[in-house]
Amino acid sequence: MRLTALPAFADNYIWALVADDGRAVVIDPGQAAPVLAAAAQQGWVPNSILLTHHHDDHIGGVAELQAHFPAVEVYAPVEPRIAIPAHRVGEGEHVQALGLGFHVVSVPGHTRSHIAFHTAEHLFSGDSLFSLGCGRMFEGTPPQLLASLRKLASLPAQLMVCCAHEYTLSNAVFARHVDPTNAALSQRHEEALAMRRDDLPTLPVSLASELECNPFLRTNTPAVQAAVSAHLGRPVTDEVDVVAGLRHWKDGFRT
Ligand SMILES: [Zn+2]
Repeated sequence: MRLTALPAFADNYIWALVADDGRAVVIDPGQAAPVLAAAAQQGWVPNSILLTHHHDDHIGGVAELQAHFPAVEVYAPVEPRIAIPAHRVGEGEHVQALGLGFHVVSVPGHTRSHIAFHTAEHLFSGDSLFSLGCGRMFEGTPPQLLASLRKLASLPAQLMVCCAHEYTLSNAVFARHVDPTNAALSQRHEEALAMRRDDLPTLPVSLASELECNPFLRTNTPAVQAAVSAHLGRPVTDEVDVVAGLRHWKDGFRT
């Protein structure tokens, strides 16, 4: 089984897991062209498509892929804004593809129906979790966002996180602003800078690394709580308030 990140749009990745016989699972194909090009070049055939949420940069290529590969099975959250024939899946269910089980977890926050998928090795988090950050809270509430982040943080730490955007460097600047004495974070930032200089993706990254470095997974730490408190000018220790303060701070943060 081989994992590939296909760049799409300005900073999206379409992830593909490809079996030795060429069958592939494709996650969040916002565009068809990168998938069609890779499939033609490398001789693989999409067998399943997994969708994490309804945003067009995650689902925009599905119809064209279904036209090219009529047998492809599509799995999506229960969400009327995904107007595509699909198997609907939710929390606790799992999808079988390429002999692997993809477990579904419900992670509202970025959108209210966002889901993530994980195997024993990989976590496909869509826009719910980025390296050193998380998706904007467009529809969810702070308690939902915190619960979703906690759910992701409780998954096996060896999972490799495959998120849908290359935002690591800009997230790193904010994360270091929040948590300036975190040595693991400084090291991750340096490594990510080197990867981008070589035009390599900074992903996937282990969940273990994110637990050490990502401030949105560290709202229970004194360092992150102190930074949010200083930013808001009042003491904040309730994690719902910490995650809400952090998310709002990041939304207005310009590097
Ligand atoms: Zn999105």
